[in-house]
Amino acid sequence: MNTDPRPVCALTIAGSDSGGGAGIQADLKTFAAHRVHGLSAIAALTAQHTRGVTSVHVPDVAFLRAQLDACFDDFNVAVVKLGMLATAEVIAEVAAMIERHRPGHVVLDPVMVATSGARLLETDALDAMRSRLLPLATLVTPNLPEAELLLGQPIPDREAMHAACAALHAAGAAAVLLKGGHLDDGGDVLDLVSEPGRDIGRIENPRLDVDAHGTGCTLASAVAANLALGKPLQTACLDASHYVHRALRSGYRPGRSEVLVLDHF
Ligand code: PLP
Repeated sequence: MNTDPRPVCALTIAGSDSGGGAGIQADLKTFAAHRVHGLSAIAALTAQHTRGVTSVHVPDVAFLRAQLDACFDDFNVAVVKLGMLATAEVIAEVAAMIERHRPGHVVLDPVMVATSGARLLETDALDAMRSRLLPLATLVTPNLPEAELLLGQPIPDREAMHAACAALHAAGAAAVLLKGGHLDDGGDVLDLVSEPGRDIGRIENPRLDVDAHGTGCTLASAVAANLALGKPLQTACLDASHYVHRALRSGYRPGRSEVLVLDHF
């Protein structure tokens, strides 16, 4: 029985989006909407609006360490959600922290390139993500281009998505939420939820014809919040997918571009 009187907390280690649509800002809004107390350690800062990223700053890893120590020293961290980590040095720091504290759930959103095209992970950090973080992830949530880069193989169709899940397990990921939104084959959007020893779960949603920002961050954070609340993986992913879909349908345009930001209200 859990006798700890402190509320369950979710910790996001990710990048800040000054435009408020993605990154840490989306993560904290999502945690709040799930009534989970959100903690944050800012691994990178982006100057960004709805039209793109104009600058990136990666603080000293010693300061990241100080943020992580502050969180683990005082709070009951049920889940760690990883987003934009920017460099191999940051990844090494985060991996060491996970090995030290062993949180119950580690949701890895392997953020690499923004929808606008901006690089959010240095090219030479891909190896570190593959070798250091993938084996520590209890769930990895790549979209198809990210899974292709992690695996070094193309994923051209739905059949290949199943093979990609198996390959991600072989690479060390305990569970996989593979997002098929980039597969434009005329059908509904298919996401797969894969965990060893269980049938693969399928989540299908009608394709919404919108240019949106922050959907990946929000989905991974919603799954993380649901896991922190004790939901089993398949339910956590399905409920998170419904959350994103609803937030997308009522999304709004805060900037001068056509890009939608999700509605968490
Ligand atoms: N900015 C930050 C800080 C992010 O973490 C992310 C995605 O994870 C993005 C931007 C990109 O968001 P999107 O590709 O949805 O525009």
